[in-house]
Parts: sequence; C-alpha cells; structure tokens
Amino acid sequence: MGWDLSDSVRICLEARLKQKGVQILISTKVIGFNHPDIAVQDAGGTRKLQGFDSVVICLGYKADDEMVAWVSSQETDARLIGDALQPRDVMEAVSEGLEAALKI
Ligand SMILES: Cc1cc2nc3c(=O)[nH]c(=O)nc-3n(C[C@H](O)[C@H](O)[C@H](O)COP(=O)(O)OP(=O)(O)OC[C@H]3O[C@@H](n4cnc5c(N)ncnc54)[C@H](O)[C@@H]3O)c2cc1C
Repeated sequence: MGWDLSDSVRICLEARLKQKGVQILISTKVIGFNHPDIAVQDAGGTRKLQGFDSVVICLGYKADDEMVAWVSSQETDARLIGDALQPRDVMEAVSEGLEAALKI
C-alpha cells in the first residue's frame, strides 16, 4: 500500500493508521455493497466484511484523452504532458511542462 508515496509521507501515514487500529487488506477487490455488509474477494475466495458507518471510495484516476485525439489530429506541434499523459503528481507535470517549453 502506498508504494508511490515518498518515504516521509508513507512512514507517517503507516504510523497513524497503525495507531488508529486500521485494518489494511491488500490484493482484495470490493465486489458488492449491501448495507451493512461489504462483499470482498481475495485469493481465498469471497467473504463479507461488517461493521461500517460509512464507505469512502478512492479508486485512483484515469486520463481523459478525448481532447488529445483531437489535438493530435490537427497540424500542430502538440505535446502530451502531466496528468493528461498519465495521472501522477505535481513534480512530474511541472518537469514535463518545463521540458516541453524548452523544446519550443
Ligand atoms: C485530490 C488530489 C490530490 C492530489 N494531491 C497531490 C499531492 O499532494 N502532491 C502531488 O504532487 N500531486 C497531487 N495530486 C496530483 C496533481 O494535482 C496532478 O498530478 C497535477 O495537478 C497535474 O498537473 P497538470 O497540469 O497535468 O493537470 P491539472 O493540474 O489537472 O491541470 C489541467 C488544467 O486544465 C484545465 N482544463 C481541462 N480541460 C480543459 C479544457 N477543455 N479547456 C481548458 N482548460 C481545461 C483544468 O481545469 C486544469 O486547470 C493530487 C491530485 C488530486 C486530484
């Protein structure tokens, strides 16, 4: 979990989660909600988890490349950078922006 976080952020986060007694399930897929149960599937099969007040869904991001196809079809010197290329973080977006600007 959190493999793409910086060490400083991950270490603090892991400590807080541990302190709060948070149970972390990896390689586990949520396959259904039926309040108050959540059905999950892992290598051992499917099972129900219980005891939730609320559920927060945070499944990551996906680039919307609709405009990219249009820009690429025009006769322009367009470069795809940042999250439009692939959702990541600010440092990568800024560095790719700088690189693209220096090539103009
Ligand atoms: C909730 C959340 C938390 C995050 N936390 C962090 C963090 O702590 N640290 C970190 O490094 N990164 C974080 N990120 C990721 C970071 O925000 C992005 O990687 C970064 O903003 C990407 O920059 P970008 O310029 O590629 O895209 P964006 O910052 O998304 O900029 C794209 C811009 O284009 C505009 N736009 C879109 N469509 C059009 C259109 N048709 N016409 C005109 N304008 C348009 C949008 O309004 C937006 O202003 C977070 C992202 C999210 C969603």
